[in-house]
Amino acid sequence: MLQHKINKKYFTDSDFNDGLVCEKKLYLNKKRYKASPDNKIISLNKEKLMYENIEFNNEFHKLFPYGANTIKSNSFINEDQDIKKAISKTKELLNKKVEIIYNAVFEHSNFIAHFDVLVTKNGDYSFYKLATATKTNNARHILNLLYKLYIIKSIGININLNNIFIAYPNKDYKKGTGLELKLLFKIDRLIDIEISGSGGVMIGDTAFDEIRDYLNNKKSNLLIKFIQKKLQHFHKNLNSNSSPKIQIGSHCTMPFDCTFKHYCWKHIPKKGSSLKIVRAKWSDKVKWLNKGILYAADVPQGELSERQLKATSRKVFLDKVAIKKYLDDLSEKIYHFDLETVQFVTPRYQDNAPYEQIPFAYSIHLQTGEELTHYNFFSDITGDPREKLIKSLINSGQVGPISLS
Ligand code: SF4
Repeated sequence: MLQHKINKKYFTDSDFNDGLVCEKKLYLNKKRYKASPDNKIISLNKEKLMYENIEFNNEFHKLFPYGANTIKSNSFINEDQDIKKAISKTKELLNKKVEIIYNAVFEHSNFIAHFDVLVTKNGDYSFYKLATATKTNNARHILNLLYKLYIIKSIGININLNNIFIAYPNKDYKKGTGLELKLLFKIDRLIDIEISGSGGVMIGDTAFDEIRDYLNNKKSNLLIKFIQKKLQHFHKNLNSNSSPKIQIGSHCTMPFDCTFKHYCWKHIPKKGSSLKIVRAKWSDKVKWLNKGILYAADVPQGELSERQLKATSRKVFLDKVAIKKYLDDLSEKIYHFDLETVQFVTPRYQDNAPYEQIPFAYSIHLQTGEELTHYNFFSDITGDPREKLIKSLINSGQVGPISLS
């Protein structure tokens, strides 16, 4: 097996994910390039997500009662020192024959595999990975699990493929008076998953067939062959003196803006960029970039729809008839209405599903002629804000046509 030595840092499951999404991101991250200085909002979002994930993980652990955790239940494994502690705690718990371990972490040659739950019974291991996405039958999730199995197998632990699971939130579940954990989580057996879609990772079409074949053959040595090749490839790149040449693309913005955008996107114009053309597909944007077309104005006209042509022409187009009809239809009073919502993976309130949007604040500007009157409502989210918000709307006594912001 390979030895991971770069910066003496561990190579984790999320490094593996980075490599699958963008090899350059993996390189820049592991070589400690500076992340964007203006990424505060992204960091805040990430922090919110991390704490939500901890809450979700803790609920998942309750499906396997009386287990022992390798970390404090309100924390997460982030730095190398946390990983080190969790590895040694996992070993200690296994030696003590503890049957259920939360956050089991294994290491081989500095490669790390983390499982949300490990169940040991009569010498058989069952491994559970918990995802927060509501769809996990894609290449990203499957490959991530295969990476973990690769590490486990390299350590010499026997893998029974019937005992490898991915758990994820059931988006159809609505919370009752309490959380029904068996309904909140869906759990799939790895070898029963029908792979569909890439999940945002850059793998060729043939790789899909390869993964499908591996899954269908149900042999663990076949399943991890693919991973071995991937890791060798990542490490060849990591040992190079320059970052891999990866074209920018949709992977730079999904699900969050990449922290290295300031580095890879510095040649992209701030205004009038071909990447900002409305409704243009990423495949087209990449094609233009490859041809050196950075400005929307330089995109060949035949490649744009009528709407896109108008939007890129920098001219003002007025549909006077439609505008007049719109203005004529307006009553004397218009309510400019804006609603703020929040969503959680673990449903907080009754009749609330994972990731369902919950309104907690609104702002209304009532326009009467030239006059504006403001109404607003804001609730903290320690209690269910929905009823309070609706009552506030009713109590405002305002009725009339709204324009949504
Ligand atoms: S900005 Fe895009 S190309 Fe650059 S490292 Fe991030 S994902 Fe990769």
